[in-house]
This record gives sequence, structure tokens and C-alpha cells, in this order.
Amino acid sequence: MSTKQTSLERFLRKKKRLSEETEMSSTSKKRVTFNRQYHESYLKYGFVGTGDSHKPKPLCIVCGDQFSNEAMKPSKLLRHLNAKHPGVKDKSLEYFERKKREHEGQKKFMRATTSIKENALRASYLVANRIAKAKKSFTIGEELILPATKDICRELLGETAVEKIAHVPLSADTVTRRIEEIAEDIEAQLFERINASPWYALQVDESTDIDNKAILLVYVRYLYQEDVHEDWLCALPLPTNTRGAELFKSLDGYISRQLKWSFCVGICTDGAAAMTGRLKEVTAGSTFQCQGMGNQTGLPV
Ligand SMILES: [Zn+2]
Repeated sequence: MSTKQTSLERFLRKKKRLSEETEMSSTSKKRVTFNRQYHESYLKYGFVGTGDSHKPKPLCIVCGDQFSNEAMKPSKLLRHLNAKHPGVKDKSLEYFERKKREHEGQKKFMRATTSIKENALRASYLVANRIAKAKKSFTIGEELILPATKDICRELLGETAVEKIAHVPLSADTVTRRIEEIAEDIEAQLFERINASPWYALQVDESTDIDNKAILLVYVRYLYQEDVHEDWLCALPLPTNTRGAELFKSLDGYISRQLKWSFCVGICTDGAAAMTGRLKEVTAGSTFQCQGMGNQTGLPV
């Protein structure tokens, strides 16, 4: 036991000594490594200092390449100028000063364009949302909305505004992508609300889409902030002459992905003769069965 304790103490002492040694060596290391500073005279080699002022990095204003702080040495900077840019190596200091001003102007421009880009991106989402809500073709963004907005801006605000408007991405592809993203987000939010509700009920309705293809429209009723809410949940594509069992399979595939059937207190149809026959099988597939969302049979009040 005592041997063990001693060995443990020795081990701890050793550890302490080791950590002290590392600390010492790191401080001595700190003393050895120092950050090289930028000097104005380096401009004659075509370099400016960028980044952290304590540890600036040399940036070649001729080619835009950036090097590490360790390269902040006249010899290294001069070597880069001679090797990479022999054409300008004998240029006067004024030449590099002008280059530096150009570079700073570009930096300002970059900062300005980044904020324009962010605003343009927001605008792009807002417009895509409107296009979806208005059920318009996704090409309307590039074909009508953008040119029309440019016209209005040109007449009322001038060319600068028109140039900014041009940055708003509204091509059909972009609009499609944005609407998909927004739809996914809305769906996720809806699932979140339904899952937080103590119960939910479904209403299913067979319909046809714009291409005359059969679809199953699903509406959901649930409790949110002490109020009963009704939302359109999804439209499921249906192969022609779908039997009831397949109808349920398609619905089950969607529901089971995000919701629990055990919280479903009712599933209703619109009661139309063409629907009821097949949907009886659908409703039989779920725990409860009710007919007609209108009288809300089977739904808690
Ligand atoms: Zn260079």
C-alpha cells in the first residue's frame, strides 16, 4: 500500500515537473517566436500588410497572393517580386502607391457588394414566396417581375437602384429552389406544431392536379395555442385506379415519416360516393373512422 502511495506521489510529482517544464519551454518559445511587422518601405516590393495588426500578413498587390507572417521579410518579398513579376520590378514607388489605392478601392467595393448580396438574397426569397402564394409560373420572376421592377426603379429612383435590382436572383431555377426550401421549412414547422398537439385529425380528398393526374389531398386539424387549426398537409400522387389499400399505404408512408398514428383521432372523407367506397378501406387502416369533416364526427370539441 505504502509502496503504491509513494509511486503515485512520485508519478504526480513527475507530472507536475513535466507540466512546469512544458510551461517554461512554451514561454521560452514565445520569446523566440515574434510576429513580424509590416513596414511602409515594403510597398516598394509591391506588398501591403493585411489581417491582424499584431500579426500582419504580406499581400502582393500585383497578383493578390497572400503569404504567412513569417514571409514578412524584405528578402522574401523581393524574391517574390523578382520571380513572379519581373515586368514591374523596376517600377517607381508611385506605381505601387497607385496599385495600393486601387486595392483599397476594391476592398471597399467588395464590402459593399457583400451587403448588397445579402439583401438581394432576402429579396429573392420574399419574391419567390409571393410567386408561390399567387400560384404563378416560376418563370414570372425573370420574365415579368424583375424587368417590371427595373422599370419602376429607373423612373422613380434612377440607374443606381436598377443596378442593385439586377443583383436579385430570380431565374426560374432559383425561384424553384427557393420555393422548395421554403416549402420544406413550412412543412417542418407544421409537423412540429402537430406533434406538440395532444391529438390531430385528417381529412382526405381525392382530386386531380394541373396535369389531370390523380392526387390525394390531405388536410390536418390540430390544437395549437389553445385553438383548433386546420392546414393543408400534403398532396400525394396516386397511380390511376388506385385501390383503397394502396391509398392508405401512400398516406401511411407520408404520415409515419413524421407523425404518430396513435395521436390521430379521426380520418374523414368528403362523403362523395366515388370516394367513400375506396376510402372506407383507407379509414379502416387508421384507428378511428368518421365521415364528413363538416359535422366533425369523432373529433374532440
Ligand atoms: Zn505577386
